[in-house]
Amino acid sequence: MEMMNKDYIDVKDRKRSTKEKLRQELIQEEQRCNKLKVPFCFRCAKLDYEDLYNKTILEAQRKEGNVKEEDLKVPKINLKKYSDKNRFKLISETEVWDRQRGSSEPKHIGYNVSYVCNERGCGHSMFMNLEQYDKFKGVKGNKTLISE
Ligand SMILES: [Zn+2]
Repeated sequence: MEMMNKDYIDVKDRKRSTKEKLRQELIQEEQRCNKLKVPFCFRCAKLDYEDLYNKTILEAQRKEGNVKEEDLKVPKINLKKYSDKNRFKLISETEVWDRQRGSSEPKHIGYNVSYVCNERGCGHSMFMNLEQYDKFKGVKGNKTLISE
């Protein structure tokens, strides 16, 4: 089982709804993973968050009757599991060539790397330039999905 973070989403800021805050968390984590060229399953994280959110509302209502959204304490999900290398299967690596205007020779600029998420079959594709791709191929273990 995944460890639950004991922190709660701060819902005191009334300008943004709890759902919006949850969404922002996911976007931040996705951006972090994008920089590392690690796939992140935004779809699964969003679905799990929504389930948790709905469950939290339901439980609060069972205990206290009518509950305002701003009084909700929605637990944070540990988002690390959505970029866990075991979550994804590498499907394909396709060369990307750039046909620059005025140049007859297309230039090899990188790869499109595609994955599928084992949990719900979500498809992912990301572009890596040559430098990022070399790093991806060279680094073993945690940060990449290269299997031996
Ligand atoms: Zn997924």
